[in-house]
Amino acid sequence: MEKIEAQWSASLDCECPSCKEDVDLLQHPDFWDGRDNLDIAKTVKDLDVVCPECGHEFEVNTGW
Ligand SMILES: [Zn+2]
Repeated sequence: MEKIEAQWSASLDCECPSCKEDVDLLQHPDFWDGRDNLDIAKTVKDLDVVCPECGHEFEVNTGW
């Protein structure tokens, strides 16, 4: 029997402290660079992120 493929749909939303836009951090093209093992099911502290709107670099703690 053919297996049905189910696709994850994720976003990592926050307000950028610089431009104050509500952004999805996953939209930055370099977000996954060197992060193949990032476990998004867990809370991650001090994750370095870059705002996809203005390029501001900052740190976040993630949560669901
Ligand atoms: Zn920004």
